Amino acid sequence: MPTNRTFTMLKPDAVEKGHIGAILEKINAAGFKIVAMKLTQMTTADAQAFYAIHSERPFFGELVSYMTRGPIVAALLEKDNAVADFRTLIGATNPDEAAEGTIRKLYAASIGENAVHGSDSDANAAIEGAFHFSGRDMF
Ligand code: UDP
Ligand code: MG
Repeated sequence: MPTNRTFTMLKPDAVEKGHIGAILEKINAAGFKIVAMKLTQMTTADAQAFYAIHSERPFFGELVSYMTRGPIVAALLEKDNAVADFRTLIGATNPDEAAEGTIRKLYAASIGENAVHGSDSDANAAIEGAFHFSGRDMF
C-alpha cells in the first residue's frame, strides 16, 4: 500500500448515532479520497487481533466488547501526509482533550467510545488496511 494512505473505522457508537454521513463529509472536506470502504462487523477474534497491542491494558475487555457490538465503517483514505493529517482531523483519543472542530470533539462520547479510529503509522495503516480489505477492494 502506498505511504500516502491511512486506515480508519467509524466505530459502533458513531454508526449507532447516525453519524456516518457527517463524519464522511468532514473526511472529504479535509481532502481525503476514499479508496476502499465497507460496512462490516468485527468478531471478538477480529477485535482481539486488531487491538492485540493493547491486550495487557485494563480497558482491553471493554474495548473488544465495544468494537464488536455493532457495525463499523472501515475505509482506506488517500492524501499527502495521510497518517498525520488524519490524526489531526480526528483529534486526541480523549474527546475532552481533542481540539475544537475535530471529529472526536464533535462526535465522541468518552475516551473509550471515541467515534473513530486512525492509524498511527504508515506501517500500521498497511497492516490495518490489509486486515479489512483484499487487494481487489482497494482502488
Ligand atoms: N481506549 C480506552 N481507554 C483508554 C485508552 C484507549 O478505552 O484509556 C480505547 C479507545 O477506543 C481508543 C482505543 O482504545 O481509541 C485504542 O487506544 P489508543 O491509545 O491506540 O488510541 P487511538 O490511537 O485510537 O487514539
Ligand atoms: Mg492507536
